[in-house]
Amino acid sequence: MSETSNTLTRLKKLHDVDAKIYRLEKKLNQYFPRKIAERQAVVDAVRAKYDAKNKELVDRQKQVDSLELDLKSREAEIEKMQVQLNTVKTNADYQAFTGKIAEAKADNSRLEEQILEIMDGLEGIRAERSAREADVKKAEEEFGKEKAELDAEAAEYREDLDEVRGTREAALADIPSEALDAYNRILAKGSGSAMAAVRGRICQGCQLEITMHDLTRILNGSELVVCRHCSHILYPEDRQQVSN
Ligand SMILES: [Zn+2]
Repeated sequence: MSETSNTLTRLKKLHDVDAKIYRLEKKLNQYFPRKIAERQAVVDAVRAKYDAKNKELVDRQKQVDSLELDLKSREAEIEKMQVQLNTVKTNADYQAFTGKIAEAKADNSRLEEQILEIMDGLEGIRAERSAREADVKKAEEEFGKEKAELDAEAAEYREDLDEVRGTREAALADIPSEALDAYNRILAKGSGSAMAAVRGRICQGCQLEITMHDLTRILNGSELVVCRHCSHILYPEDRQQVSN
């Protein structure tokens, strides 16, 4: 077995460890946060419906309060006019005053009707708000359960990750520093992998064909060969070819 074949076999073992680490980290850093955010969005949407209904209720109640205030001041106005009515001297003034009072009273009746109409509607809105409130409670309970399940699942992945990370040190042993540097440099590019298998003459990292010359170099095992397209260190998919 040539020195380079040995190195390639060891790099491949490190690559397997790093591939597992990458997969587990991705699951922990992307899958779980995304799942939780999706579930949270469901709760938020249900709560937004409750908030809208609640705002509608508050706005209507404010409208009633303001109309009632208006009604009170108009009633005070009418009382004042009725007192003034006792002091008018002429019949014409008396007629004019009673006319104004009757008009004001009619306005108030309309205002009262308007207030009653809004208040009638309040009951329905209040009932809808209660229903939305129950929806929020239910959604929050479901979210709590789902999140607990996801957290438990993630904890298992985290344990696996710690375990695999623990094996990395051993996988580094006896890899020449030059090869390890090259490996780490490629890994640092962030694709999650520094190596790619060659199946036939196709690089499995980029699905492009490598040259016959490169394939021969890989099979000879006399040097590390890097894919000219995707820069991964290449190894024959059939590992027998390397280790024997
Ligand atoms: Zn490639």
